[in-house]
Amino acid sequence: KYALTDDMIIPQEAAKFTNVTLKGTASSMDSNSTQAFNLMIASKELPDIVGGKRQDIIKYGQEGAFIPLNDLIEEYAPDIKKLLDENPDVKGAITAEDGNIYQIPFMFADLVSEGYFIRQDWLDKVGMEVPATVDELHDVLKAFLDQDANGNGKRDEIGYFTRVSVEDRNKLGGLLPLFGINDYWHLNKEGKVAIGLYTPEYKEAVKNISQWYAEGLIDPEIFTRGANARDILFPENNGGLIHDWIPSTSGYNKSVPAKVPGFKLTGMLPPTDINGDQWEFASRDKIDGAGWAISSQNKYPEESMKYMNFWFTETGRRLKTYGIEGVTYNMVDGKPVYTDEILNSDQAINTQIMDMGGMIEDMAYYHDASYEEFAMDEEGKRTVELYKSSGVVNKCYPKLPALGFTDEENDLILAKYPACRTYMLEQLQKWTFDGSMIDQQFDGYMQTLKDMGMDEVVNAYQTAYDRLMGVK
Ligand code: CA
Repeated sequence: KYALTDDMIIPQEAAKFTNVTLKGTASSMDSNSTQAFNLMIASKELPDIVGGKRQDIIKYGQEGAFIPLNDLIEEYAPDIKKLLDENPDVKGAITAEDGNIYQIPFMFADLVSEGYFIRQDWLDKVGMEVPATVDELHDVLKAFLDQDANGNGKRDEIGYFTRVSVEDRNKLGGLLPLFGINDYWHLNKEGKVAIGLYTPEYKEAVKNISQWYAEGLIDPEIFTRGANARDILFPENNGGLIHDWIPSTSGYNKSVPAKVPGFKLTGMLPPTDINGDQWEFASRDKIDGAGWAISSQNKYPEESMKYMNFWFTETGRRLKTYGIEGVTYNMVDGKPVYTDEILNSDQAINTQIMDMGGMIEDMAYYHDASYEEFAMDEEGKRTVELYKSSGVVNKCYPKLPALGFTDEENDLILAKYPACRTYMLEQLQKWTFDGSMIDQQFDGYMQTLKDMGMDEVVNAYQTAYDRLMGVK
């Protein structure tokens, strides 16, 4: 919980550039920020600037608690305006139904998030290269098993495994893309909104999944494995392939070799899928809902907007991410590098900077992910660069941006979709274990989902997406 306090040096430094000094009004004792926000609204005593979730800001903005920012952005926030012009999907997402913008959003600059990692030491053991296609990956995982890659004399190598929770995506959501299926809401090749488990192409994909499972190339406990999967399977020398967050996964190269001599994970690009396409399904969302707003009681909206814009300038971004030159970072070859004190601390870099009033998402700014390089080993850095430079992220089947639904759309989705999703996941699990009846059952599966209202759900997403993109 980060409440702004007077001793935070980053807002103090910002005052030198902006002549604006912030005074925090939220208490660090408020452990529940939603409750604190609601209490503040109810009190009718609003501070000049309020941080909060977009849907709350929009709701109370339309009721008059916050002012529309459109004209202020136009006149006093050139850097925010430029960014919104360059990202029409973000601009659409933050625009309320009444056409007004009430919140300046926290934004991510860099969208690379997750990637594939494979055991380099196992590849060396079986004498194979990093797989470039889905077929090569199949053969590699089979070789891990057939050739006792972990050398314990047992046929126990686990190929693909995951720690993702079904709330995020299904347990096979990292493998299905290799068969042309994106389990996130996305745009298909015709530019239409779709979700992978409700497409005709899913039939061949789930057959392949079932086949791989039968061959032992997928974790037998894939559906029940928990969030600590990496902490168990890597030190046990028993996990071969994962799709996960790049910085944290590459970190196992540091911790595991002490237990498993020679342990090494290599980051690899997504193998080309069964259609010959190479694409990465996971990405960061450009916005996550956090940001700040100007209250209707603020007597200085113009100055407030200029202040907000400061955090989107290069100077503001550096201050927000790296702190103060000579104190928390130094410039080395034209780039900011944290001081040894920051780098060698027991605390994470972002925690230290947040304690100084930087990197707080409710105080909207344009995030600079370059700081993550300092938290990553060489393999992590190499992998991020691989995903960036190859342009695979959001290619082929791009993930939908954050959508704003009308109440009607929202009600429909909540009424129909959860049951559809449950049915999809149950069927995926059944077919993974036994794919012998997929040909006979698939049409019935699609019809059942149609009967449950899946077309209406897809339509609600399509309408919300069209509205976002300004399609009439
Ligand atoms: Ca073995």
